[in-house]
Amino acid sequence: MTFESLGLHPQIIKALTDAGYTEPTPVQAQAVPAAIAGRDLLVSSQTGSGKTAAFMLPSLHKFASAAAEGSAGKTPNQQAQAARARGERPRFAPAQPKMLVLTPTRELALQVTTATDKYSTQMRRVKAVSILGGMPYPKQMQLLARNPEILVATPGRLIDHMESGKIDFSQLEILVLDEADRMLDMGFIEDIELIVSRTPETRQTMLFSATLDGMVGNIARRITKDPQLIQISGSSTRHENIQQRVHFVDDLLHKNRLLDHLLRDVAIDQAVVFTATKRDADTIADRLNIAGFAAAALHGDMHQGARNRTLNAMRNGQVRVLVATDVAARGIDVPGITHVFNFDLPKFAEDYVHRIGRTGRAGRKGIAVSLVNHAEGVHVKRIERFTKQSIPVDVIEGYEPRKSAAPRARPGWKPGDGRKQGSGGKPGQRTFAKPGAPRKDGGGYRGNREGGRSDGRRG
Ligand code: ADP
Ligand code: MG
Repeated sequence: MTFESLGLHPQIIKALTDAGYTEPTPVQAQAVPAAIAGRDLLVSSQTGSGKTAAFMLPSLHKFASAAAEGSAGKTPNQQAQAARARGERPRFAPAQPKMLVLTPTRELALQVTTATDKYSTQMRRVKAVSILGGMPYPKQMQLLARNPEILVATPGRLIDHMESGKIDFSQLEILVLDEADRMLDMGFIEDIELIVSRTPETRQTMLFSATLDGMVGNIARRITKDPQLIQISGSSTRHENIQQRVHFVDDLLHKNRLLDHLLRDVAIDQAVVFTATKRDADTIADRLNIAGFAAAALHGDMHQGARNRTLNAMRNGQVRVLVATDVAARGIDVPGITHVFNFDLPKFAEDYVHRIGRTGRAGRKGIAVSLVNHAEGVHVKRIERFTKQSIPVDVIEGYEPRKSAAPRARPGWKPGDGRKQGSGGKPGQRTFAKPGAPRKDGGGYRGNREGGRSDGRRG
């Protein structure tokens, strides 16, 4: 399968070749032709599977083809010029994007914009800009004044601009909801509905999500027309290329010691350590720095500038260990991340999937290690149910838990036999669930997900 065979415009093929892409990923192979044919799409596919290009390539193709036919409309700047020519004072002309991509977080929006720039290097006329919370207002106005074809935005800030008349969606042709499940989790449902209601009925709509069950499926059906359903590899959550394991810890001291030990593994290129709270992210980053690791924190309380600097430092390798909260780390795509550590388990099983998806990017291998208090065994079980995979428990010599982990009624496991097992650092054989055991309650976890998050709700 080649990109040519998907029917993409030569300008796009050239950009992809320059970017080193040799063939489409499975989700791209399915989504691109369907989107070029004008279909609405509902897509679930795991993180790192290339979803950005799956919606951006066919959209760019559409713009490239339209430009070739010379069907570009009057830009607001031309409208303003026309007004001047008539001797009228031009009003502020709202931006009239042709494509809108909604994402849950600022980081993700910036990533989509960067990827778009990469895919459109050969198309001089296409501009993509991000409109984000935390960005200085004059800067946003400047970006909108360029009347970009493609707008990438988090819902909250976008609505501010819509309400003040800076954006007009009457010319919108394509609407993309990226990580829709996550946007709903973050409470953006009403914002999304409002935004969608301001876009033309004639638009093409593409929705991407880890899952299409529940609320997401609901909204998906309402905003799409006769959508093509694309579900890659059955479960979107398997992460076959990521080796997962659990270490039990007795207390915080034990957890800290074990983390320091694990971080000294020479196999680590770069790592992300996930914490439950912003404060923990700061504290642990400070502690690791003192211990000699090149560590930095990333969380929602930091200014956008500081977040970008930290991410850039991670990208160029100055930072080796990023200590992050869920929302801040959403969508981070740094190929050097070989390891993910859950210093705290996430509240929701989906977050676990997104966390470990920070490693093993673009087909590489990755390792995901969770440090788990004995009382949290039940959370591990939930994650296993959600991912339909069992996670081996590992014990490292010198870092054995004093208490033996004692989840109830585990088949094939006797109390006490975990202590000396797997001491060479290889994952032990013990698991919470029998591999391949049938799980009739696989979807049950999503039901009880109300409750506050420890991180900011808005991107
Ligand atoms: P997702 O949104 O599914 O998590 P991304 O769109 O962020 O995935 O892509 C993940 C990584 O894979 C990015 O670094 C991207 O540049 C790379 N990638 C995407 N498509 C291809 C391809 N066809 N060939 C090689 N690399 C690709
Ligand atoms: Mg993505």
